[in-house]
Parts: sequence; structure tokens; C-alpha cells
Amino acid sequence: MTPRLWAVCALVVLLGALIAYAAATVPWHRAPHPRADQLAALDRLPSEQVARGRAFHGELRPGRYAGMLTGLILTLALGLTPLGARLVELAGRPFGDHWLARAVLGGLLVVLVLELASLPFAAWRHTVVVRYGLSVQSWGGWALDLLKSYAVGAVIGGIVLAGFFTVTHFAPRWWWAFGAAGAAVLVVLLSFVLPVLVEPVFNRFTPMAEGPLRTELLALADRDGVPVRDVLVADASRRTRAVNAYVSGLGPTRRIVVYDTMLTEATPDEVVSVAAHELGHAKDDDVLTGTIIGALGAAAAVVALYLLGGWSGLLRLAGTDTIGEPRAIGLLLVVSSVAGLVAGPAQAFVSRRIEARADIHALDLTGAPETFEAMQHRLGTVNLADPDPPSWEHTMFASHPSTVQRMAAARAYARGER
Ligand SMILES: [Zn+2]
Repeated sequence: MTPRLWAVCALVVLLGALIAYAAATVPWHRAPHPRADQLAALDRLPSEQVARGRAFHGELRPGRYAGMLTGLILTLALGLTPLGARLVELAGRPFGDHWLARAVLGGLLVVLVLELASLPFAAWRHTVVVRYGLSVQSWGGWALDLLKSYAVGAVIGGIVLAGFFTVTHFAPRWWWAFGAAGAAVLVVLLSFVLPVLVEPVFNRFTPMAEGPLRTELLALADRDGVPVRDVLVADASRRTRAVNAYVSGLGPTRRIVVYDTMLTEATPDEVVSVAAHELGHAKDDDVLTGTIIGALGAAAAVVALYLLGGWSGLLRLAGTDTIGEPRAIGLLLVVSSVAGLVAGPAQAFVSRRIEARADIHALDLTGAPETFEAMQHRLGTVNLADPDPPSWEHTMFASHPSTVQRMAAARAYARGER
């Protein structure tokens, strides 16, 4: 059997495993959230709040889509013409055209060009979120965050580029096998490491202060049978008024994080309701599910890249001889952008189902649908959500059910509908 045939087999096995795992772990059944309840919930929201959320998203929309389109067109220009290959050659020139310099510096240069093109859209977005009072960040703070995220991206990107092209360099026929294994390991590793190494770059985390709320949250976790060593508070108020909470990490790095804005903006009962939702993610091992789906997807993507590398027309367009050499970086970005566009709505769908399950967990655990609804109302108000967004946009991009969907689910739950 040739490496190519083995790769086809590996791709079939990986995709099969991905589909089987997703079928077994994603909550396909979603609790009822009748449209009639959604409309009733929408009616109860203050009309000026609904109008403000809609106006805010209406202002963000043009820049958002223009930015996406610009990024896509530029990516296509870099990957489907020899432009990307030229940039990679340019970056390697001071280092005697060494393949490793081309791989790491060339890759980072191509990504930098894309980042610079997205900069005006990001800056414009910042002016909108500041004008609406959601962000409290100065331009200096905004720029510092941006530089930090470039630095984190450069470190992770540098490791990925060096690893990938080392494997393609030394194993030109079998790189897809090593690369697929490496990609899967990297996804798992990042799940463990990101919360511990990267999140503190942007925020300071402190254990929630002793007091009735902390006691109640730990008791809630205990009642739920979820081992939680600590509840952390992030100093999000440095940059935003938005409220949020999340669970990240795996095993010993698992933590429940509450924004400090949550503690000032929401009532203790609402914080408990949010924490109960987060405990649902912990109890159902949603981070682990996401990590395994991500690892299988990343491995499949590497094998698919190898197989695509047999398409000589594509290589000719990109001005490269093989897909395993650094000059193909632009082409690799085209493939991953297109794959991301296709996979995005599927990912969003899976995410919404998982979020809806965590909502039901919160309702089960607290037995307080009214508080849950009040909490959704609060989240929507403070975060300037569009409570009932256009359905096409929701389907394509939303990671969570909409505010009115979540309120409707609580109403249906209160009536005993499951
Ligand atoms: Zn959630």
C-alpha cells in the first residue's frame, strides 16, 4: 500500500471516529423553547433595551462582515497566487533561504499581513463598543491587549509552524501521519495549558473572597457532585462592563471563573444561577468533549491537507512544488479558512446544543426558573445583546441560544415541559 492509500484510510477512520464521538456526546435533543414564550419574553423586555441592543449590533455588523470579506479575499490572494510564496521567500532570505526560517518567519509574516489588514476593522469596532459604553478601555489598553495577543499568537504559531515543517522536511512521504498525531496532541495540550499560561497574560485571577456567596457556590458544586477546588474572579472590569462566567481547563487545571463585573452588576441569586450553568459544563465534561472533537478534527485536517497536496493545479496557482514546503503556507491558510467557513455553522450548532443543556442543568440544580430568567435578562441588558437576533445570523455564528430562547426554555421548564 502507498502512503497515499494509507492516508485515505486514516482520513476515513478519523472522520468516522469524529462522527461517532459527536453522535454519542452532543445533546441532540433540545428542551422546548416555544416561539410563543420567546415572543412573550421579548414583550416583557423594556423596549428601549431591545432597541439599544439592536442598534448596537446594527452598527457592528457592516465592519464585521467587511472585515471577514477583506480577510477572505486577502487570504485567497496570498494562497491562490504566488504572492504568499514570495513573502515566505523574502522572510527566509536573510537566513540563507533556510527552510526553518522560511517556515517560522515566513509563516508569521504572512499572518502579520492578514492581521494588519484586519486592524482598521478592529479599531473601528473598538470605537463602537466604547461609544456604547460596553468597553471602558483606553486606546493604550486596547493596543496593549492587541500586542499581547500577537505575542501569544506568535509563540503558538511559531511552535506549530516549526513542528509542522520539521515533520514535512524529514518525512516527506509520511508527514501526514506524524503531523496528524502532533496536531491532536497539541489540541489536548493547549486545553490544559491555555488557562494556566495564557489567560493570566490578559487578566488577573483571584480566589473569590470568603463570604456567603462563595460558601453558597461551593455548596452548590458539592450538591452537584462536581469537584471544584476554587471559584476564581477575573478583573474584567479593567476593560469591559460586560458580565460573563466560564469554565475552562481539564482535570487539575479545571476552573470556574466569574468576571468581577458579574459581582457588581448581578444579584447573588443570579450569580448562583450562572455558576449552576457553568457547573453543568463541568459535570458533562463539555471541555473534554470539545477537546476530543477538536483533536480528531485537527488530525483529520492534516491528513486532508496531505491528500489535497496531490492536486497539482492548486500547487501551481500558489507557486509551490509541494504542500509540505514553507512556500505553501498561503495555500494552507486558504484551505484552513475555507474549512473554517464550512465548519463554523456546524460548530456553532453543536455549541448551542451544549449551552442549552447547561441551561437545563442550571434549572435542575437551582430549581429557580424565575431567577434564571432574571439572570438572562441581566446578561442581555448589560452585554447589549440583541435579544432576538436575525435567524440567519444566529444559525451561522451564535455560540449560545438567544436571550429570548433561553428565557423561553426557562418558562417551558417551569411548566414541566422537557
Ligand atoms: Zn455555557
